[in-house]
Amino acid sequence: MIVQKFGGTSVKSLARIKNVASIIARAAAQDSVVAVVSAMGDTTDYLFKLAHQASDAPNRRELDALLATGEQISVALVAMALNDLGARAVSLTGVQLGITTESIHAAARIVDINTDRLRRYLDAGFIVVAAGFQGATPEGDVTTLGRGGSDTTAVALAAALGASTCDIFTDVSGVYTADPNVVPTARLRKEVSYEEMLELAHVGAQVLHPRAVELARKHKIRVRVRSTFEPEHEGTILKGADEMEIYRPVSGVTADRHQARLAILKVPDRPGIAGEIFGALAEHRVSVDMIIQAFHEDRSVNDITFTVNRSDLNTARTALEEAAARIGAEGVLADEDVAKVSIIGAGLMDQPEVAARMFSALGQAGINIEMISTSQIRISCVVADKDAERAVRIVHDLFHLDAQEPLQS
Ligand code: ADP
Ligand code: ASP
Ligand code: MG
Repeated sequence: MIVQKFGGTSVKSLARIKNVASIIARAAAQDSVVAVVSAMGDTTDYLFKLAHQASDAPNRRELDALLATGEQISVALVAMALNDLGARAVSLTGVQLGITTESIHAAARIVDINTDRLRRYLDAGFIVVAAGFQGATPEGDVTTLGRGGSDTTAVALAAALGASTCDIFTDVSGVYTADPNVVPTARLRKEVSYEEMLELAHVGAQVLHPRAVELARKHKIRVRVRSTFEPEHEGTILKGADEMEIYRPVSGVTADRHQARLAILKVPDRPGIAGEIFGALAEHRVSVDMIIQAFHEDRSVNDITFTVNRSDLNTARTALEEAAARIGAEGVLADEDVAKVSIIGAGLMDQPEVAARMFSALGQAGINIEMISTSQIRISCVVADKDAERAVRIVHDLFHLDAQEPLQS
């Protein structure tokens, strides 16, 4: 039993849908197959824009109802193409798949999958074509799992069904040392640990949805990222860190260009203030990333600066302006033209020279670092958005990420 997932570019046109159907049919000759499919091409972007043209602040329930239609189109078309190839196939939406999520719109987590119906179809010899990115609340309202969430549907179904493999078919040949569309010399990696992939996904390597990686790690699912257009290539396998053969101090670099920065100025310096500010943001479900607090000369006030996802900027700014008025801060500044450039590698904390080299190389190239944060296996710098891609290429060169493995064991 295997799960195959096909992203938007892979089903962009009817010709591509036919290509996908032939990949699925080939797999179905040997195994039971669940094929998870995303919306065609840029359909989700289009629907999102449409909603924002229809309404200044689209109702979140209705927005999810609208976005979910993208995947309903593509699954029906893929099932039809499979029928034309002589295969028995049935398309199922999130609700029909028995996927229950939290009662939250736009980024709901899957809480349960009732696979009864799905299994009945598989047992009867059907290929199930499953709509990615969607589920339903316990009350039956349609929800979506966040942008890129079809990966999560695929891994969650693989876990629920005990599938042996979960193949993520996409428009690149696997996971590279950097986005191959940005860094032409980026190297395809044969294997990546769940931990590294989780960090990469969180810092903007779009190739896998972070929750898909979390679920894969939790359930030890053998996820393989591979190309729809060159399906004969093996792609990249996700593995446990203990199974990895090779470690390199720096294994990947990514830019997240969906960031924004907010600052709240001259905040009175007293206990409980940070709790109040970030509590207000949490109430609006805004996730905050890097946080920097800088004090002024007289030390009675601080500036607090942090980053958020650009899609949360308006919500965050409103919440912050209210908090500023309440606590007597001077005001709020917002900057959309920022990006976060991150390097990932095992044991970065133990190698202080890595961070120093990264900062120096960016400095020598005239790229100003505006904020920095680090974890055990990640170093992130906020830079101007216009410098982001150049910074990624500089760092990729600096650490010789194009060089073949093994460099160091
Ligand atoms: P899909 O529609 O198939 O889900 P996505 O656009 O979500 O595809 O993800 C694939 C894209 O991820 C690639 O086209 C590539 O530009 C981008 N990407 C960013 N970082 C990486 C990386 N390290 N390795 C591979 N692809 C990456
Ligand atoms: N169609 C959704 C999106 O564009 C989900 C996905 O592609 O994974 O975000
Ligand atoms: Mg994707």
